[in-house]
Amino acid sequence: MSDRNLMIGNVEILRIVDAIVDYPFPLDEFYPEVPVEAWDPWREQYPTSFATEKTHRLVYTCYLLRTAGQTILVDTGLGPAWAPLAVMWQQNHAARQAFQLLDELQAAGVRPQDVEMVFLTHLHPDHVGWNLLQENGQYQLTFPRARYVVHQADWEAFHTAEMQALLPFDYIGVHVTPLERLGALELLTKDGGLAPGIEVIHTPGHTPGHMSVAISSKGQHAILVGDAFIHPAQITEPTWDSMFDVDKETAHQTRRRLLERITADDAIVYASHFPAPGIGRIVRRDQRTYWQAGEE
Ligand SMILES: [Zn+2]
Repeated sequence: MSDRNLMIGNVEILRIVDAIVDYPFPLDEFYPEVPVEAWDPWREQYPTSFATEKTHRLVYTCYLLRTAGQTILVDTGLGPAWAPLAVMWQQNHAARQAFQLLDELQAAGVRPQDVEMVFLTHLHPDHVGWNLLQENGQYQLTFPRARYVVHQADWEAFHTAEMQALLPFDYIGVHVTPLERLGALELLTKDGGLAPGIEVIHTPGHTPGHMSVAISSKGQHAILVGDAFIHPAQITEPTWDSMFDVDKETAHQTRRRLLERITADDAIVYASHFPAPGIGRIVRRDQRTYWQAGEE
């Protein structure tokens, strides 16, 4: 549902939900070091982020950024029905909504050829699903004019057997590797600007090349945090690691660094997986930081 269309100065941010998934594994598997009862207050606070008492419901959100005549899509979601992760979720009856990205873009008046850049925060399968389409066994770019931009550390790590072994299916060869052959791949090695007012910053831990997007325009600030935070509870508990955080110590540092920057800038936060509205601010109470959903 493209229910959010906000301006940060001159940068327009459109929130697009590709899928909503009820994770089939329990919370203490998802966050191995967090006792199940520690989730009790968060269940009350964010009821829509739980599918059942013991499982998460995650939204798969992509963002479209428009400024100075440029159109940038941040992440490409779960992907079509044949995407390996989509196949797994369908077998588990886990997807409540799915396969919405292209329809939602169309509903917003955006054609695939309008997208000039696909920026991938990282290379997990729920962020790269719509990168490519298949026709007659051939891959083609879903967004035919776009450069697909990703951090080199993720490109390299996700092409190792060690990283591929962490997930029960091969999706890199399906959604990611062909980008190079198709001439669309652009690898980043450092922080930098994508467009006026839009800067990307390396926020590793969840994956080695995870990046966030910082938007600053006309004195307003926003940060797309990707999967640095998967659940709003981690805004208060930055040491709660998910099973998908590859380097936990680095993930803690990244969460703390992001929290400092967000509060210093009074930035609006856009998350990949938080429950609707997926947008909010970080507030301080009793020396702790909390998620406050909404734009105000
Ligand atoms: Zn994710």
